[in-house]
Amino acid sequence: MSPLKKLEIDILTLFPGMFTGPLGESLLQKAQAKGLLKIRLHNLRDFSQDKHRKADDKIFGGGTGMLIQVEPIWRALKYLGAFKKGKSRPCVVYLSPQGEKLTQDLVKDLARNKRLILLCGRYEGIDERAMSWIDREVSIGDYVLTGGEIPAMVLTDALARMVPGVVKEQESVENDSFYDGKLDCSHYSRPAEFMKMKVPGVLLSGNHKDIKEWRKKDALEKTIKKRPDLL
Ligand code: SAM
Repeated sequence: MSPLKKLEIDILTLFPGMFTGPLGESLLQKAQAKGLLKIRLHNLRDFSQDKHRKADDKIFGGGTGMLIQVEPIWRALKYLGAFKKGKSRPCVVYLSPQGEKLTQDLVKDLARNKRLILLCGRYEGIDERAMSWIDREVSIGDYVLTGGEIPAMVLTDALARMVPGVVKEQESVENDSFYDGKLDCSHYSRPAEFMKMKVPGVLLSGNHKDIKEWRKKDALEKTIKKRPDLL
């Protein structure tokens, strides 16, 4: 678990409205209310010099599709202090299908930063010249989405879980799948029997040592069965 007390995330997007639902509900909303997580949304159009606030344009060389321009990105990053030197400099992440694949290890690594800037691409992506200001290029999988907003939400959610206090029980975060290179064990809730399917007796025994042992064994068996590549 990272020693972080608070995480600050600035999100650069052409569609800030997309974040309202995911950030305004449940644990992410509570984490912000408690001051454990600070998320600021910035519209890339606000950094455009164009009279119509356009931040995208046609691609040189022809072909269909638009591209987010280099200048609004540069202005936004400058405004957010991305070009400063020293420890206070935020880590700039570009969400992109061409980036390193997001894993729990990468989440832990990124969570070491106190402040991150997440840049969401759209259309054909961003002008390649902006890549020189990007510290990490992160993909959420080998498929292409219409924009970087959903990947930014995925990353924000995964990062938020690394901040102590966001998830009430730290132990539950550490027992979750991938945290320690294995899958989580099986879980059950009431009723103890449903349509002749019974909850494993040990979980009802109240013997914490036996329960711990059972969970460890079950997690290992699940990992061997579903994701042997993790072992
Ligand atoms: N032309 C780009 C390519 O083929 O590499 C794809 C552009 S995609 C249609 C538009 C934007 O969506 C990207 O700039 C990126 O920000 C985001 N995006 C799409 N798929 C993604 C993925 N798997 N992971 C992270 N971001 C993704």
